Amino acid sequence: MAAIRLYTQKKFRGPGPEKSTNEDSSESETELEPAKSFVRKLSTNKDIKSSVSTREGWLVKTTSFQRWHRRYFRLKGHKLYYAKDPNAELYDEVELCGVTVAETSTNNINHEFQVITPFRCLSLGAENRKEMEEWIASLRAAGSRIFFEANDPHSLEFLSGQHHWYATSHARPTYCNICRDALSGVTSHGLSCEVCKFKVHKRCASKAINNCKWTTLASVGKDIIEDDDGNLQMPHQWMEGNLPVSAKCIVCDKTCGSVLRLQDWRCLWCKAMVHTACRPNCFRICSLGPSRISVVPPTALHSIGMDETWEVSRPLGSSPLLVFVNSKSGDNQGAKFLRRFKQLLNPAQVFDLTSSGPALG
Ligand SMILES: [Zn+2]
Ligand SMILES: [Zn+2]
Ligand SMILES: [Zn+2]
Ligand SMILES: [Zn+2]
Repeated sequence: MAAIRLYTQKKFRGPGPEKSTNEDSSESETELEPAKSFVRKLSTNKDIKSSVSTREGWLVKTTSFQRWHRRYFRLKGHKLYYAKDPNAELYDEVELCGVTVAETSTNNINHEFQVITPFRCLSLGAENRKEMEEWIASLRAAGSRIFFEANDPHSLEFLSGQHHWYATSHARPTYCNICRDALSGVTSHGLSCEVCKFKVHKRCASKAINNCKWTTLASVGKDIIEDDDGNLQMPHQWMEGNLPVSAKCIVCDKTCGSVLRLQDWRCLWCKAMVHTACRPNCFRICSLGPSRISVVPPTALHSIGMDETWEVSRPLGSSPLLVFVNSKSGDNQGAKFLRRFKQLLNPAQVFDLTSSGPALG
């Protein structure tokens, strides 16, 4: 099966007026990114049709000039293909290795998301929220090396430690957790993880490692604390910088954090905040904070096999909560509730009925 591959080199984004005759110039609009060449790759329809797609269908593709086009997309293995119609001779090909997928819709009216790879940034829109979530889950699974073979991307995705990006602006100066520079513009525009609030520039997203909020004992890894009686204790999970205003250090009780740089730390579980210098003097075991009674600590959640069996040891005096949210219901509030519950609890306690369904819970 001979595949024809054409490579065309797009012009560098250099000084001088930007002239682009190609509707696929999909560099992001507001953010100044380092000039990079982008290789446009094409495949023939015949080549693509030789294997089964994991997902296919129509999506709307927005260009940097705010125009949009309907395109037919096919997802196969590590690659995403698109063309004017399903029978087109040539398809554009996007390699998904190292892909970041971010929801960019702010409500349930437009169902937009961005597919960001080291070489491309595609702005896409789906017909409805369910379709958008399915595309996002499939694209993330396709780009993830560890869970590439998992048949059900919905149920296992959160166990991979991947961040869940959405594009947003911030009311106060916010700093990238990867390169430590300020996010772009006066509104600090960038990507934020909806679970752990890790902040990144779009250009830095592909460098983030999968270190989102812990879900299981395995995800806590080497940070685990074993007390003298051999019991496993929960350590703090520290996130650096971007502390709320008037943050107070739990050790010295003085204000901490800064609007000038990425500085000091916040625990994702108990919400404690601490100076970098005071951190060694901080009590190591995490209290899990005000909602501790409802939280399943990741130290109590063991061995998740591919057969979806979970072993939960119930900590004394706790009454863990399982949360089921229909993200489509309640006048667009569902998605916000999902986000908030994942921030407050163990993300593995929170289930979206419209994507993974209640079975796993
Ligand atoms: Zn950055
Ligand atoms: Zn995260
Ligand atoms: Zn803590
Ligand atoms: Zn301190």
